[in-house]
This record gives sequence, C-alpha cells and structure tokens, in this order.
Amino acid sequence: MMTNWTSYFREQLPEIVAELRTYVEMESPTHNKQAVDRLGLLIAERFRELGCRIERLPQETYGDQLRIEYGEGDEQILVLGHFDTVKEIGTLAKEPWREEDGRLYGPGTYDMKAGIVFAYFALRAIISHKLPLRKKLVFFWNTDEEIGSVSSEQLIRQEAARSKYTLVLEPAAGDGSLKTSRKGGGEFFLTATGRAAHAGNDHALGVNAIEELAHHVLAIQSFTDYAKGTTLSVGTIKGGSVSNVVPDWATADIDVRVQSHDEAERITRLMNELSPVLAGAELKLAGGIAKPPMERTDGTAKLFSLAQEQARLEGFELTECGVGGTSDGNFAADAGCPTLDGLGPVGDGAHASHEHVVVDAIPGRMAVLLRLLTTL
Ligand SMILES: [Zn+2]
Repeated sequence: MMTNWTSYFREQLPEIVAELRTYVEMESPTHNKQAVDRLGLLIAERFRELGCRIERLPQETYGDQLRIEYGEGDEQILVLGHFDTVKEIGTLAKEPWREEDGRLYGPGTYDMKAGIVFAYFALRAIISHKLPLRKKLVFFWNTDEEIGSVSSEQLIRQEAARSKYTLVLEPAAGDGSLKTSRKGGGEFFLTATGRAAHAGNDHALGVNAIEELAHHVLAIQSFTDYAKGTTLSVGTIKGGSVSNVVPDWATADIDVRVQSHDEAERITRLMNELSPVLAGAELKLAGGIAKPPMERTDGTAKLFSLAQEQARLEGFELTECGVGGTSDGNFAADAGCPTLDGLGPVGDGAHASHEHVVVDAIPGRMAVLLRLLTTL
C-alpha cells in the first residue's frame, strides 16, 4: 500500500466536510429518539450504499442501535462510535455550523459525528481502491453513549468479546494523542436520615441528618488518592427544609474516578463500610462504579505501536496518553478486547459551545484509520 492516504483524503476534504455538516445539522440529543433515529436512518443508508450489511437493533426509549458489517471472515475488528449528542434540539440555532480559521464548529462535530464520517470515507476508499481486508469489519454506532450506554452496554460488550481489536472513534486528546487508558467511574448517592424536631424547643430530641452527612462528606473526600489516579468529589449536597427544623434528611451525589480495578474495589468497599456516626441516624448508599477502568494492557500497547507504525508511513508521529473521562472503550476493554481510543478528530470543546474539529488534522487521522482497518 504505497499510496499516501493523507493527500488522498486531503483532496476529498470538501466532500468530507459537507457530509459532517449534514450530520451536525440533524440534531440528535440522546433523549429524543425520533431525532436520533432520523440521523440513524441516514447513516445506515450511507453504509448500505457501500454494500454493508445493516442491522438496526430496535430500542424503545433511545435511538435504534446500528450494527454494520463489511467483509468476510471469522475474525473481526470492532469500530465503535456514537451518534447521540448532549446538545438539546435548538442548540444549532444558537451555535450554527460554521467554518472559521480552519475549524468546524457545531453541536456534535467533535463528540463525535466526525468519527463516524471518518469511518464512512475510510471504508469508501477501501472499497473504491479494492484494498483487501484481513478481517471482517463491524461498525457499531450507538445512540445512548452520553448517558452511560444504558441500552447498548451489553451489545457492545458482546461485540467486543468476539472481536480481535476495538477501535474507538471518539475524539483524540488535545494534542492529537490516542487514548490507551481511561479511568473508570461512576456516581454514588449517599442519603442520611435523622429525626426532625423543633430546632428551638426540642433540639435534643432531633437527629440532624445534615450533621450526619457532613461526617461522611469529609471521609469520602479523603478517599482520593492522586498517586493511584483515584478521585472522589462530593458534587452536590441537599438537605433539610427550613432553618428552625432539625433536618431529618440530607443527601449527596459523589463523582468517582479510578484507574485500576483494584482501586474500584477499594472504593466500593470503603463506600459500603460507611456507617452512621450519630445515634439514631441511618445511611443509605446507592449507585456505584458503573464504568470499569480501561487499563493499558499488553494488548493495547501492541495495538498502539501498530497504529504508530502506520502513522509513520504517513509521515507523522502518533503519541498516546491516559485520560480521566470514560467512553464505550471502557466496556470493550473490560470485555477483554485490546482497545485503542481517540482515533477520531482533533479539536476541542466536547459538550461546550466552542466545540470544534481542526480541519487540517482530518486527512492524517483518516489515513491512519484506513491503514489500521486494512492491516490489522
Ligand atoms: Zn463521545
């Protein structure tokens, strides 16, 4: 394969950008099934035109999941991405699609409609150049990543478990690095109950739920261990009704991130060991570490060095990093599949109003993707 694919995709940029614009202008917030399905239909149609086998996996609440196959063989490569966004309908009116200073702005450009567009054009190039594949390709585009993949987690795990590799088209890290590890994480919800009483007349009869919770807030914050990559942050607290009533209720939401399975176990144990400090108070814990950490395994390291080799053939150096945020790559890796994440666009501003993709970086990313799809 002697072609310089970077220049090939550079020539195709106008068409790639136009396709991304089409996707972005079809807003697809996770909770709007109708809107998500509308974009799903378009994506399915595009891949169908390339000769792919399309499976729509119907969902009641969220958009239908798309499983798309190309090629033959017992072994497969899983390509993962999502086409739901966190941006509500109407965001486009306030933050319209625009090209400015070599950047493509608009809701969902970077996270991660560009990634799906990359996959489409890479596959189209593979087909038009009759490049042989060594494995079957399975594209899995899900519709509820932004809320934790509630209806697609099991499907992703099953697909990853029967795949040789998983390539995730989520955005790259800021400097273009691929993501070879991600923290795992989740949310805990801790509720304290006490006994209400008149704060003036019956202070001694009350059990102050806020006081009870305060002890645990400090304990939970102290479970953080930066050296091990573990963080806990009490993000909200609520409780009580009015100042002259001893509160019988208080609750806290806690964000947790862990880098290893060992730490996930340690934190889960510590959280479950919290017990009431005040006589008469009760504690209830809900939630947990829903996303397992994506650890940098030997398989991941090997896969990354293969990607690096392919980038060098295109004349650039790929770097890797670990990040705190999670993706569906966490589930794929937890299913035992070597997973390379962050193969999507370079840019910035996921979930923010300055969300954008850097145009100049697109051809190189797509070249590496095409090379991985044909050489793995
Ligand atoms: Zn994403």
